[in-house]
Amino acid sequence: MSNILEITGLTKHFGGLTAVSALDLHIAQGEILALIGPNGAGKSTVFNLVAGVYAPSEGVIHFKGKAIHGQKPWDLCRLGLARTFQIVKPFAGKTVLYNIMVGAFLHTNSTAKAREKAEEVMATLALDHLRDRLAGNLTIADRKRLEIGKALATDPELLLLDEVMAGLRPTEVDDMIGIIKGLRDRGVTVFVIEHIMRAVMALSDRVAVIHFGQKIAEGTPEDVTHDENVIKAYLGG
Ligand code: ADP
Ligand code: MG
Repeated sequence: MSNILEITGLTKHFGGLTAVSALDLHIAQGEILALIGPNGAGKSTVFNLVAGVYAPSEGVIHFKGKAIHGQKPWDLCRLGLARTFQIVKPFAGKTVLYNIMVGAFLHTNSTAKAREKAEEVMATLALDHLRDRLAGNLTIADRKRLEIGKALATDPELLLLDEVMAGLRPTEVDDMIGIIKGLRDRGVTVFVIEHIMRAVMALSDRVAVIHFGQKIAEGTPEDVTHDENVIKAYLGG
């Protein structure tokens, strides 16, 4: 299996703070990798670096074999790398259909084609019945699904999901686990940041743990949850 993403020596300084420090990480094609770690560990910063929101201070990122560090989010989206944001930000005054079509316009100028893509995405995410609802009026769970839909409409090969389970009820978490596994079954490689351990265990092929910007463990979900350094990090040690 080849690696769709390879991160080597990735470092990001914010002034005197090192948010990500000499991080090495890879994701195989078709894999679900979870990035976990205590609050402030640097997880969202890793996503922002991979998605082109920030330029790295040091290190290289390869996507499908090509160096991408320093490229802008829109260009990366065209290459097949899409993300959701921890704080969801749809066009609140626009419908679900409109919000998803915005993503689809990345690959087409045709409204009919964008609409067709949006229909396909809404079906995948069971959002059809909410197509005319304004995004600002959705429940948290539906808003999270819309956020995934916006990204999915760009036809990503690698999808970055930042805490899409946060704030969901247990049954909604189950639904979301099913949705994400379904995406992977359709060929999308998935990189998730997730706090809900039950979801991490159910979803991930592999888990990487960071603490103060550094990788402290990597392995199967079972391996990392029994790792001494990981337990210490979560207990505040
Ligand atoms: P996590 O997602 O693991 O909770 P973050 O990546 O959001 O952690 O943050 C890691 C560290 O970097 C934190 O100390 C945070 O305050 C800091 N940080 C994140 N983004 C910025 C920024 N744009 N400017 C300055 N500091 C930042
Ligand atoms: Mg975060």
